Amino acid sequence: MNEYDSNRILDLVKLMGYTATKNPSDADCYILNTCHIREKATEKVYHDIGRLRKEFRNKKKPMLLVTGCVAQAESQEMFNREKYIDGVVGPQSYHQIPEIIKKIEKKKNKINKTEFNVIEKFDTLNLIKNSNSKISSFLTIQEGCDKFCHFCVVPYTRGPEFSRSFNEVMNEAKQLVENGSKEITLLGQNVNAYEYKNKNNTMHLSDLIFKLNEIKELKRIRYTTSHPRDVTKDLIEAHQSCEKLMPVLHLPVQSGSSKILEAMNRKHNISFYYEIIEKLRKAKPGIRFSSDFIIGYPGETDDDFNQTLELIKKVEFINSYSFIYSARPGTPASKLDDVDPINAKKRLIKLQAILEGNNFNYKKEFLNKPTEVLFENKLKDQDKYFGRDKFLNPVVVESTQELTGQILDININNFNHSSLFGTISSNEKRNFAA
Ligand code: SF4
Repeated sequence: MNEYDSNRILDLVKLMGYTATKNPSDADCYILNTCHIREKATEKVYHDIGRLRKEFRNKKKPMLLVTGCVAQAESQEMFNREKYIDGVVGPQSYHQIPEIIKKIEKKKNKINKTEFNVIEKFDTLNLIKNSNSKISSFLTIQEGCDKFCHFCVVPYTRGPEFSRSFNEVMNEAKQLVENGSKEITLLGQNVNAYEYKNKNNTMHLSDLIFKLNEIKELKRIRYTTSHPRDVTKDLIEAHQSCEKLMPVLHLPVQSGSSKILEAMNRKHNISFYYEIIEKLRKAKPGIRFSSDFIIGYPGETDDDFNQTLELIKKVEFINSYSFIYSARPGTPASKLDDVDPINAKKRLIKLQAILEGNNFNYKKEFLNKPTEVLFENKLKDQDKYFGRDKFLNPVVVESTQELTGQILDININNFNHSSLFGTISSNEKRNFAA
């Protein structure tokens, strides 16, 4: 989502005459767009600012704005700690950046904007064309969260759930496709909680997917990040019927133990999660799942951890993320006692070795078979192109022909822990039914 936000911030400041510079030491204005989800995010920001100070020691100081969730969480405290900062702007206030820049330019005083103005933000953004022209683009449709998992800061930094209007999302999707995008990933902290009511109807994520499926030039649709509780019947039907909806779903589970899920306030148990997986598999044979795992959540025993391993074995997740639990300030879980860190580390190593092994076996299955790849860009200074297959696997291919934007069958002949490598086995663009 920060990538989407950064692009939209650029669209806003372009209207003031700013352009993005490839040479950061020439910048007149720095915008550090931050994420707060990982541990030490705040420290990283101060570290980056220290680096900037050094870089500009003998030059005119650039204007410095800190935006995103660290700005929201730290707010005024940032000015107390770092005098180099000129503005602190929360993720629901970034539409005001042009105004903030003008004020700072004029009066040189510090500005803090961390209100939850999400409606005003999208009202402003809807008036400005999205200029992103990547082959694969992000499109925010929903923000915020009402679920309050006990370990998570998102409900406090992004605010309550908000869904953008159906028509505005469709308009922006069409802009992206006109700009050249062939793949759109719909974004939201709880993307499948998307719900937009107009006079006559209530529209859900599945309605958006069905509508996007009709855009001829759009070839692929994805969405992230979803919550198991919001995987509804209509969404499962979209997986069954929409050919352009890709057959891989990131469905965070965090733990395989119902006891820990309850402690996390995830509001579902593990049987429910298994049921969702089964329904999706039935609707879309061959669908694969990735997930997030928090290891060593307060109260996690060896038995709880073993249930997570059992889940991984059964679902055969691919390309998943796993972390040792770290307390986020202000969350209910931060008041609980941590699991012994040595034990938590041992568990993480064990779990990651299993996920790695699964990934290795999974990637091996691709060898000597064709896989359909959408090429996104040429690698710098090389006759190589980067793309992704339907399952989001990175694929690299050597070619002297321009491949960007094409969908080709690639014969996979090698792989490493992150990517597949292959050669073109068909030169024809694939046609998709609209
Ligand atoms: S559902 Fe996701 S975003 Fe919402 S509180 Fe839980 S982990 Fe955070």
